[in-house]
Amino acid sequence: MSALPRAGELGLIGCPVCGQVCDAAGADGGALACPRCGSTLHRRKPAVYARCWALLIAAFLMYIPANVLPIMRTASLGDIDDNTILSGVVELWVKGSPGLAVIVFCASIMVPMLKFLALGTLLITCRRGSRWARRQRAQLYRLVELIGYWSMLDVFVVALLTALVRFGLFSLVEPLPGVVFFGLTVVLTMFASMCFDPRLIWDGKEDSDD
Ligand SMILES: [Zn+2]
Repeated sequence: MSALPRAGELGLIGCPVCGQVCDAAGADGGALACPRCGSTLHRRKPAVYARCWALLIAAFLMYIPANVLPIMRTASLGDIDDNTILSGVVELWVKGSPGLAVIVFCASIMVPMLKFLALGTLLITCRRGSRWARRQRAQLYRLVELIGYWSMLDVFVVALLTALVRFGLFSLVEPLPGVVFFGLTVVLTMFASMCFDPRLIWDGKEDSDD
């Protein structure tokens, strides 16, 4: 592989906010500010592992009550049901809206699980200085960031469910405490992915060969 010079070797730092390429001379001594937008420059974000792991573990802990506690109460034809995420998915499927069941399943179960796995993998491999599949891991990180915005899909799902009340599939949909924990999971995983520094993927044990 061609060995392109790296920003660190050339004494350069990219501004994380405006993208300005700045001279890193003197950065290690004290805080260096971007000459264009004034934001603080770091060669790598400080304490990435400690912060990311803390947020990720907190998110995972919130994800347990999010799944165990009921998230919504539905009533149709006199039956009142308290549903957890999973039983809600089953109920939607059985009640004849499989499309919605799939959306809720993806947004509430698949996406959070994949985010935990992806961020965990990134943190472990970067910590080890692994050179495995760097390009793919960088893409994975961008995907996790992109999905962060789409986690708000759940808000959309709740809106959709309320709309179903009007169409008569349910006569009542009420949120229950599980929703709060689910919201915390989404927010904490978003913070965890924001805290991660993707430049770490390209660090680590430097080129022996290939
Ligand atoms: Zn800047």
